[in-house]
Amino acid sequence: MNTLLEEYKKILDSVKSYVEDQLELGFSELPGNEQSKELTDSLFSMTGSSKKIAFNTMDEIRKAVEECKACPLHQTRTNVVFGTGNENTKLVFVGEAPGADEDHQGKPFVGKAGQKLTQIINAIKLSRDDVYITNVLKCRPPNNRNPLPNEIEACEPFLIAQLKLINPKIICTLGTFATQTLLRTDQQISRLRGKFHTYQGIRLMPTYHPAFLLRDPKFKKDVWEDVQKVKAEYDKE
Ligand code: URA
Repeated sequence: MNTLLEEYKKILDSVKSYVEDQLELGFSELPGNEQSKELTDSLFSMTGSSKKIAFNTMDEIRKAVEECKACPLHQTRTNVVFGTGNENTKLVFVGEAPGADEDHQGKPFVGKAGQKLTQIINAIKLSRDDVYITNVLKCRPPNNRNPLPNEIEACEPFLIAQLKLINPKIICTLGTFATQTLLRTDQQISRLRGKFHTYQGIRLMPTYHPAFLLRDPKFKKDVWEDVQKVKAEYDKE
């Protein structure tokens, strides 16, 4: 009898700690649809018997991403694109999703948009090794189409876990998808950029995506202004 009670207590404790983790990660409701259930189940099975969505290291998150089958993109990817840079940084850049170059190399922002992002980072007198760079989606959407809501929902927990571990001072979101995903809004990037928002107590600056700048260089000035504000915050004690 005692053993049975102990078993019940263990189950209750793990449910409690799961709910607490979800709240801490910024979720306000428990997953209800099939997609979330699939993700939750796969995260559970990946994290073993403790049934806790809690990652202690980046390698644990990376391994979970590599094993993830929560959305169909795992079927078409060549490599997962997890993130690169300084895991103890004050500044994280979050893009949308890997493109073809990123999918081949397994690294974020290594194609043309990546060169533009490197220029932007260098313009504020930092290097890619000073910051951390990642995306909302860790697998490439076929033909670089926009991320679908179910893909974002499936992949976002990994981004949240990365941000939670790095705990940066500033997040700079690049473009519509990263910005709207983290800020839980459908407002346009043109309205959101240029001022700091707050994400889980962290200063968040939305700016235009480097690929958009390549298509429309007249927005360079806006991005320049946005990243100057980021750098001023970065340099503050
Ligand atoms: N665009 C993105 O949003 N991310 C990449 O990694 C590359 C291009």
